[in-house]
Formats: sequence, C-alpha cells, structure tokens
Amino acid sequence: MIKVAINGYGTIGKRVADAVAAQPDMEIVGVSKTRPNADAFIAKSRGYPLYIADISKKSAFDKVGISVAGSVDEMLAKADIVIDATPGDVGAKNKPLYEKMGVKAIYQGGEEHEVAGFSFNSDCNYRDAFGRQFARVVSCNTTGLCRIIHAMDKAYGVEKVRAVMVRRGSDPGEIKKGPIDAVVLNPVTIPSHHGPDVQTVLPHIPIVTMAMIVPTTMMHMHAISMDLKKVATREDILTIIEKHPRMGLVRKSTGITSTAELKEYVMDLGRSRSDLWENGIFEDSVAMVGKELYLFQAIHQEADVVVENIDAIRAMIGSVKDPEVSVRMTNEALGFTAI
Ligand code: NAD
Repeated sequence: MIKVAINGYGTIGKRVADAVAAQPDMEIVGVSKTRPNADAFIAKSRGYPLYIADISKKSAFDKVGISVAGSVDEMLAKADIVIDATPGDVGAKNKPLYEKMGVKAIYQGGEEHEVAGFSFNSDCNYRDAFGRQFARVVSCNTTGLCRIIHAMDKAYGVEKVRAVMVRRGSDPGEIKKGPIDAVVLNPVTIPSHHGPDVQTVLPHIPIVTMAMIVPTTMMHMHAISMDLKKVATREDILTIIEKHPRMGLVRKSTGITSTAELKEYVMDLGRSRSDLWENGIFEDSVAMVGKELYLFQAIHQEADVVVENIDAIRAMIGSVKDPEVSVRMTNEALGFTAI
C-alpha cells in the first residue's frame, strides 16, 4: 500500500484524502490542519489521523475534543508521498521540509511550475513523472484545457487554440471572496496565465487565453476554439469525447444549458460531494467550421484535479506503469458513471 499524507486539508485536500482512501493500493497516514475548524471535525469523523503544522496550537484542538496525532514532521516521517494542498505559495515554503524529510511531494496549481520543475496531467505526461521527487498537478482550468487539447492533438494535430475562461468567483464554502455583482476581467491583459500554464504540460501547442471572473460558485465555463491540422467531422469529435475516461458529454436530450443544472444533475447522480471529475462538454455546442472546432465545456474547479492527484501518486511511485490502467483504477474506485 502506498502511504499518503495530505498537508492542507481544505477544499482540495479533503477531496484528495477521500479519493486516496477509496483506492485499493493506497492508504491515508494522516492529514494536517492549522486550526480546529469544521474540516477538522470531518477529518475526525472519517478517522484520518490529524497532524498540525504548529504543535504549539495543540491545546486549541484539545479544547474542542479533536485529538492531535502529532506534528506535520511526524506525519511526513510515516509517508511515501505527500499531497501539498495548502493555499497557493505556501507549498513553495514547505519544499525545504520535504527535501529534509526525503519525501516525495505533489503540489497544486496555486504553485509556480518552478516549485516542482514538472507539471503533470495524467493524459499528457504520466510516464514523465516516473521516479520524480516533485510534481505539480496543474490548476483546474489548465487540467480541463489539457485534456481536450491533448485528445484533439493526438487525433488530428492542433494548429492553434483560443480559449475564453469564465471563472467562478469563489468556491461555495468561501464567504470572503467576490465579486457579488460584477464581471471582473482577470487579468485585463491578454493572454491570461492559463495559456502559458498549458504550455508547461504541452509546450508545442500555440494557445492564447482570456479570462474573467463572474459571481457564481458552481463551475468555470470555457469557450474554446481550436484550429485542427486535419479535417474532422462533428461525429468523430463527439466519439472521441464520449470514449475519453475524463471527458463527459452533457447531452442535448437532458436539456441542460447551464452550470447550475449540470451541478444539480451530478448531485442527483449520487456523486460524492456532487463532484464532476471530468470535463463537462456540451454536446450541442460541438461544431466544426472547416478545420475549426468550437465547443463549450464546464469545469468543476473543486473536482477535476482530484483524480489527477491520484494518478500522479502512482506515476511518481512507479507502481503502475500504464497511464490507462491508473486512470481506470482511479475512476472505478470513485464510482465514475457516465454523465
Ligand atoms: P483551501 O484554503 O480550501 O485549503 C487549504 C488548507 O490548507 C486549509 O485547510 C488551510 O487551513 C491549510 N493550511 C494553510 N497553511 C497551511 C500550512 N502551512 N500547513 C498545513 N496546512 C495549511 O485551499 P484550496 O482551494 O484547497 O487550494 C489548495 C491548492 O489547490 C492551491 O494551490 C489552489 O490554487 C489549488 N487549487 C484549488 C482549486 C479550487 O477551486 N479550490 C482548484 C484547483 C487547484
């Protein structure tokens, strides 16, 4: 069993912890918190040993009846690999600790590529992660872009990508972020950082991205256009998406035309935390104009990177050599069903 520690038990960390616990070849050795908030009670109810970054804060946890197993250093000593799901830029500060402890670490998209020196996506570069000490699972938006671009590049070759990201203002549990009533250009400048971020995984793809933030918490929405190198039919594109293990078609027949209806649908399907792990590509939006492909895809920001972290663990440990096998194991353990 691969022993996994989760440093930073928040939106992403708590999902990755449950996904690890569901895998047949992995176990949780501990999760870490900085303060005894609601997530700490969830960790307790799941039975995950709880470690804390600053051991001098132990009494605050004792006071509310949450037992502390020890310090983060002690947690890392028990682990083969740590998922660093601390807020952006905190991961970089943790790197000397991981180096000192000689533990493998997976960072998240809030960190710079340079922190790990290698950016990961299961579809695109699984085998390049073999044996590495550090990797970064790219952000939710970049993960969604990499999946669709790589699938089209494999099938037809991609000449150029243009993508507009309409991003959620905050996660549903976050009460201090906005906007409440605005469309915020984020950034105003073009290209946004998403294009260069895609190129940390797919360096040969010419891509220009634009991004804005809107008052919603559900999901991001991408409007994508791609110039393909070969002619393709709309039906061929739909078949590729349909067969892909991390992309799902939002069927015209469901009548779903929004992130809100899609979130409700995924919740009703009984998905854990109503998480959509795959790209939600709107069937009716897929269009070919000559060699140009157009589509809309919904990206559930809290979910799509979770499954990538699981595959990154197997790749870095080297326990599963074939990416397709790892993706299948991950999906089966989480109970993927077609959307
Ligand atoms: P979050 O704020 O929900 O959770 C972070 C957790 O880390 C919190 O529980 C916090 O208390 C804890 N923490 C803070 N400092 C710590 C420390 N020094 N040691 C241990 N724990 C510490 O953040 P999140 O949304 O889960 O984001 C985590 C990472 O994942 C970031 O890099 C982010 O950019 C990336 N990411 C987030 C999303 C998203 O939509 N939330 C999507 C993809 C990637």
